Amino acid sequence: MDVDIVCVGFGPATAGFLTTLSEQLVNADGTPAVESAVMPGLPPQVLCYERADDIGFGVSGVVTRARALRASFPEIDKAGIPMAAPVGEERVLYLLDPVGVSRRSMTLRLADSLIRATKFMLPFEHHALNLPWTPAFLQKHDGMILSMGQFMQWAGAQVQSTGTVQIWPGTPVAQALVEEKKVVGVRLLDQGVDKKGNPSDGFTPGMDVHAALTVIGDGPVGPIGRQLDEQFGLPEGKHLRDWAVGMKFVVDLPEDTPLKPGTVLHTFGYPEPEIFGFLYVHPDRVASLGIFVPSWFDSPTRTAYRYLQHWMLHPYLWRYLKGGKLRSWGAKTLGESGKHGEPHLTGDGYARIGEGSGTTNVLTGSGVDEAWATGTQLAEAVIELLKAKKPFTKQNLDETYVKRRRASWVEAEGRIAENSRDGFQKGVATGMIGMALAGLTNGKLSLGSAPVQPWKRIPTVEDYFTGKISRDEIAKLRDECKMKNASLHGALMDKAGWPAIPFDGQLLVSHQDALLMGGKVQAPGGYADHVVFLHPELCEKCGARICIEACSGQAITPGETGVPAFDREKCVHCGACLWNCSQANPENPERMNIAFRAGTGGLHSAEN
Ligand SMILES: Cc1cc2nc3c(=O)[nH]c(=O)nc-3n(C[C@H](O)[C@H](O)[C@H](O)COP(=O)(O)OP(=O)(O)OC[C@H]3O[C@@H](n4cnc5c(N)ncnc54)[C@H](O)[C@@H]3O)c2cc1C
Ligand code: SF4
Ligand code: SF4
Repeated sequence: MDVDIVCVGFGPATAGFLTTLSEQLVNADGTPAVESAVMPGLPPQVLCYERADDIGFGVSGVVTRARALRASFPEIDKAGIPMAAPVGEERVLYLLDPVGVSRRSMTLRLADSLIRATKFMLPFEHHALNLPWTPAFLQKHDGMILSMGQFMQWAGAQVQSTGTVQIWPGTPVAQALVEEKKVVGVRLLDQGVDKKGNPSDGFTPGMDVHAALTVIGDGPVGPIGRQLDEQFGLPEGKHLRDWAVGMKFVVDLPEDTPLKPGTVLHTFGYPEPEIFGFLYVHPDRVASLGIFVPSWFDSPTRTAYRYLQHWMLHPYLWRYLKGGKLRSWGAKTLGESGKHGEPHLTGDGYARIGEGSGTTNVLTGSGVDEAWATGTQLAEAVIELLKAKKPFTKQNLDETYVKRRRASWVEAEGRIAENSRDGFQKGVATGMIGMALAGLTNGKLSLGSAPVQPWKRIPTVEDYFTGKISRDEIAKLRDECKMKNASLHGALMDKAGWPAIPFDGQLLVSHQDALLMGGKVQAPGGYADHVVFLHPELCEKCGARICIEACSGQAITPGETGVPAFDREKCVHCGACLWNCSQANPENPERMNIAFRAGTGGLHSAEN
């Protein structure tokens, strides 16, 4: 099939692109404002393929200053988007350890003791210090709290109502079609294949869609962006080494909640010092809350689910959450390299937008607005080129799209944030000071050193638990978990002293229940496994097997052989396994021993 423009992924970046583009393809009288090359006399034919089974099945916080969103929709505050609220009170909280198990450095322990000793003079309650002010770079005054799912469904409806572009959910793009360094379109995923991709009943090969421009907005772990990174390389000095997995609940707060819509809480310090948390209050007593587990958290038991529950149970938060009920749950990777990870933004026949192009700002904790902004910048560039009848060459895209991007606030703020998190390479205290320094000096000062690949940081289970759990005990727990085909982190955390989670069937539910009740996870049959263990021999001798421990959906289990087993029907497509593998890929040490390919299914909730 031939079209003019094909887009990969319908996240905020592509939504921004299509919103701006769709408004300018047709004149007020219905005649084409610019003409299609494949269907002369008609406006350009624009298609967008989205992997998830419906629009808005993504995961995000979301609190946003909404600068780019408001530029596209000046009336957005009055648009009646479900779950939207203006930002009200903002609090930043340092959570102290109420159970005495958190792995804290000597510096943090001293700081904690000092805080506890002087708490009568401080804004301290329920084992938490309320920072007296929110640093300007973190503030979201005049911004909005949104549900990403609800907002994306609303934005998708706006785009489709123009009748000028089509969005196809449930249609993963398998690969970009590259001819002599030029991207000429995309190939969709094969259907009717077995787990390994071999043709079986009802085999239908993925269709080739040729386009003059391929827009890649497939997010932080998108397979098309990564394919181009492999084929064209990253620009000199760029790397993708900083990640986080964000895991989120949407909950009904108790009827007597004192939290007002628009409340924004940001936390750090607990359950482990490296883990950041958020709680945003929507109208009607609904809240979005969750944690980020970053790649620089040097733990081989990086389970986001269990840590999320301990975070919710922190006394400062639990007094608000007790009696609440789970509505929705999900997880997703954040690309935290920012400008460090900016790939080639353009090439002949393609342009990259959004988080996969390095937009997310880790200093301000903002990604949606940035992704959306780069989409709108590309759309303006595309209209300019279409009107001038110029082809989508790298040079033309650089002179229009990249030029706009470099001149925008996304670039200016991205530069300030560029090194702001490097301090976390040296520890949490250095990391926090480094962030404050970068924020207060507009990025002129920062601390720390360049990030290293996540797999280089991960210690063995035995080393991590030295002094807490003996090697013999670990070996015993390993055997027991292997017999049950279960991950190890639960047993290790129990043994290390983390209290058991008091499941209540409402809010504190098992991981499996979260998949079913909150994520409503499904996967249609007839597709290949999208998670593939590249070098099974490396898995067989892998000690940490962190892919199993970190899996957000319990989709990776120890398996019967030495190689983990993958269950496509439980996968939430968070992408955490991609960068949470503890072994380097021998062919490319910047990559790990897991391939995360295009796939179907996943979460079936549009509330996250
Ligand atoms: C838990 C969590 C909390 C967050 N909180 C905030 C917040 O409070 N404020 C904020 O501003 N940002 C927040 N973010 C970050 C924000 O969500 C991202 O920066 C933003 O979503 C990036 O938009 P994007 O369009 O570039 O990519 P994405 O949102 O990742 O969208 C990419 C889309 O491409 C699709 N796709 C991928 N591969 C394919 C394929 N092969 N074929 C077809 N489709 C494909 C995906 O399904 C997805 O829909 C948060 C993120 C998480 C995970
Ligand atoms: S995928 Fe990576 S972490 Fe998992 S067992 Fe294999 S080598 Fe180890
Ligand atoms: S297997 Fe699926 S759910 Fe598990 S970490 Fe990988 S992408 Fe996430």
